[in-house]
Amino acid sequence: MALTGLEIFKQLPKTNCKDCGLPTCLAFAMKVAQGQAGLDACPHVSDDARSNLEAASAPPQRLVQIGEGDKAVKVGQEVSLFRHDDKFNNPTAIALRIADNDADIDGKCAAAAKLSFVRMGMTLTPDLIAVHCASGDAGTFAGAVAKIDSKLGWPMMLCGDKPDVLKAGAAKIAGKKPLICPSGGNPEDFVGVAKEAGGSLALMGTDPAKLAELTTKIKAAGLEDLFIGPGHVGIAAALEFLTKTRRAAVKKNCRELGYPVVTCAIDEDPQQATVNACAYVLKYGGVVVTEAFEPWQMLAILTTRQNIYTDPQKPVQVEPKIYEIGDPGDTAPVLITTNFSLSYYSVESEVESSRVPARIIAVDTEGTSVLTAWAADKFNAETITEAIKKSSVEGKVKHKKVVIPGHVAVLSAGIEDESGWTVMIGPKEASGLVPFLKNDWKP
Ligand code: SF4
Repeated sequence: MALTGLEIFKQLPKTNCKDCGLPTCLAFAMKVAQGQAGLDACPHVSDDARSNLEAASAPPQRLVQIGEGDKAVKVGQEVSLFRHDDKFNNPTAIALRIADNDADIDGKCAAAAKLSFVRMGMTLTPDLIAVHCASGDAGTFAGAVAKIDSKLGWPMMLCGDKPDVLKAGAAKIAGKKPLICPSGGNPEDFVGVAKEAGGSLALMGTDPAKLAELTTKIKAAGLEDLFIGPGHVGIAAALEFLTKTRRAAVKKNCRELGYPVVTCAIDEDPQQATVNACAYVLKYGGVVVTEAFEPWQMLAILTTRQNIYTDPQKPVQVEPKIYEIGDPGDTAPVLITTNFSLSYYSVESEVESSRVPARIIAVDTEGTSVLTAWAADKFNAETITEAIKKSSVEGKVKHKKVVIPGHVAVLSAGIEDESGWTVMIGPKEASGLVPFLKNDWKP
């Protein structure tokens, strides 16, 4: 729970010495409370006050890292229940589960490596491999971990019910901070495995009160990088667990449950499994374990994650400028849209599908879509004319025609008056661009 400025002020020296660059300790406290200054800027804070403030102002949910290097994944540190209150911070890690005795580990690794999608200018991929000990044999498990690591090099979860088996697997990826995920046995028996591996430990149970006792015990044993989870339960019980534990951490400041949550979206029905995974992503999952090796499954899960983890207060935008698609000549169409990513990339992908080389002018509408920008008067004859001028498109084409979205046909006369360009009314939706470019566009 964030501290108020006054609570921070009470812990400061109150000498108003100005060494922090601010005129008073109160002004400094207010800046710290707003996240605009760090405690380190005051050289006179006592050690006691510093530790009190740091402990009290720590996020309600712990940030935990899985893996090392550029593929490492950080999850947790969420501070809100709803995305419209504050953005969600660290996207759910998606783990692909492979059994250690799977006859086609090579094929599974190859399929996992292909699960990469470009959407709205971002590359979306799963993050982790969950190696599941189905064999019960330490040698088989360790061999599978080593093989998967050599093929993919992704961060790993090691799942099984025997500490010795997981220890053998962890030894194969020394220094790579795995998440140790016991699927049975006494969780305290796995503490040593996680500590030795320098990784984290998942604690499973459906009763949050008992889990709170367990996390306290494990933390006292010296392991602080923890996950909690409901284990293999149905979607209703899993969502109840996710909601209760997030509320406890964020609203009640229950540090004992302030850990990211691991959920398991494994189901015989691949459609249900995909729905479950999306639901867990939307509702607070820290790590979601899946067997979604089919592109249609993973695309749905990653798209859901991308949508929920964008900052609602900062629309995802592209640079407002002219883009060339294909190799457009001097008779190629000039299309107008906004710099809202989804609008721009929808237009771009339809132009690519049409195979008609074209130029797209993305007008600066502060990342809002066509109709929103038009309603807010950010997409009007003046802004469009300015974008046409700035793009220098006039020197690139020998016609003077622009295509505007059909939804804002009402702007056409104004644009013609303002810019001197002829306006063609394009389709209302980007999906209509392929036939439009093939059949209707005339320079
Ligand atoms: Fe107060 Fe510390 Fe700033 Fe001095 S440096 S004014 S003691 S907050």
